Amino acid sequence: MSKSDIGLIGLAVMGQNLVLNMADHGYRVTVYNRSADKTETFLQQRVEDRPIVGAYSLEEFVDSLSAPRKVMLMVKAGEVVDHFIELLLPLLEKGDIIIDGGNSLYTDSDRRTKYLEEKGILFIGTGVSGGEEGARFGPSIMPGGNPKAWSSVKPIFQDIAAKSHDEACCDWVGQGGAGHYVKMVHNGIEYGDMQLITEAYQLMREGLGLSADECQQIFAEWNKGVLDSYLIEITANILSFKDEDGEPLVDKILDAAGQKGTGKWTGISSLDLGIPLTLITESVYSRCLSSLKTERQKAAGIFPKQQVALSVDKQETLTAIHDALYASKIISYTQGYMLMSEAAKEFGWELNYGGIALMWRGGCIIRSTFLGEIKAAYDKQPDLQNLLHANFFESAIKGAESNWRKAIIFGIQSQIPTPALSSALAFFDGYRSATLPANLLQAQRDYFGAHTYERVDKPRGEFFHTDWIQSG
Ligand code: NAP
Repeated sequence: MSKSDIGLIGLAVMGQNLVLNMADHGYRVTVYNRSADKTETFLQQRVEDRPIVGAYSLEEFVDSLSAPRKVMLMVKAGEVVDHFIELLLPLLEKGDIIIDGGNSLYTDSDRRTKYLEEKGILFIGTGVSGGEEGARFGPSIMPGGNPKAWSSVKPIFQDIAAKSHDEACCDWVGQGGAGHYVKMVHNGIEYGDMQLITEAYQLMREGLGLSADECQQIFAEWNKGVLDSYLIEITANILSFKDEDGEPLVDKILDAAGQKGTGKWTGISSLDLGIPLTLITESVYSRCLSSLKTERQKAAGIFPKQQVALSVDKQETLTAIHDALYASKIISYTQGYMLMSEAAKEFGWELNYGGIALMWRGGCIIRSTFLGEIKAAYDKQPDLQNLLHANFFESAIKGAESNWRKAIIFGIQSQIPTPALSSALAFFDGYRSATLPANLLQAQRDYFGAHTYERVDKPRGEFFHTDWIQSG
């Protein structure tokens, strides 16, 4: 019997769909799952006449693969990945490849790359985005790890990946944990995009008193312009979805957001690297605040909203909300790119920033027209220091700035929280300020802790201390 091109372990939703995608592109795949009944059901119900074979032991699984063996894990992230690596190690030969396609923490992928290299096994830790649908018909794939593995895996990954303007949304990201780092930042940006959309929605729904259907029409309209993206598209679809009683289903859903950790990891990394990733971090905190439902209900009774009659022009306010969303989205991606750039310096990765925009341009949850502009900016200027320095984004921000402020003022007056929109504006106002009150802060630090300060009239790197109590 002919050997398989690749083997996949983990037949939950992502694994099953990736296998079908690979088989549809002509690859022969062996599958294995801890619970054998899932393998059986998959083979019976979804495989049809595709070149997919089941294995019921890891020995049988590994034996069925052509060399160098490529084993992809699509299992629960964390210890389960290490568990399978240990089970596979005695069965594999030098030069074989283990790929982890789950949402693993980049430091784990870094560790696994080094550990497996010592054993002669090549490791790839890859981000796979796009959910179930993406996995089935074309995900965004962000591989990193041991570069020696890439040439063997590249044809399969680039064939099954989403395509944007005929280019695969998959390319080599970098060594060690680079692929999972970029996937982590992608997920952080996803948190930010979702939060921004929900803030725009609340401004429309509560602030302007629009119905779900009216909001649906506005999002559908916005999806034809600069905000054209998968998340705006599904938001419009969600708002038009009715429950059995004919009412919008969204109104029946409990307002307590869940999270699986990748947004939090992005925030933690930004604090470790000293990058102001304010919008994404606010988005994580907003989910935390939303989950305090019972406490919020109590507080709503203690601090009822003041009744204020605002007189605003509906159309003008909608345009302001649109522009605020657009400008804040630019800030979110700017911050995400600042973080990746700092991580690249810290971990010695040579990240291709335009290539990352291309990988995110199709297949994944944050796919949007907007990413084409980011790719264009980096194609034009590969050493671009900051996205806000690119002509396109400079003009976009300048064009949106005044409406951005109006939308936030409208939120403040309407007592509607806009943490992501506001933190984006605060970042922008700080970033474009040649002077900030950190001089006073440095003085305070020196006053109570003798932490010293630099002076504006002396070269950088010369530090001074003042005896504030005697001199003050
Ligand atoms: P999942 O629910 O994260 O994991 C289920 C798979 O892991 C099953 O094959 C399960 O085997 C196996 N597993 C769990 N605990 C195990 C253990 N202790 N020992 C051995 N096997 C164990 O599946 P998923 O949603 O398809 O996601 C797979 C990976 O892709 C995850 O890392 C996830 O974070 C990532 N991901 C998911 C999505 C998504 O939209 N779902 C999107 C992108 C990335 P059994 O069947 O035997 O329980």
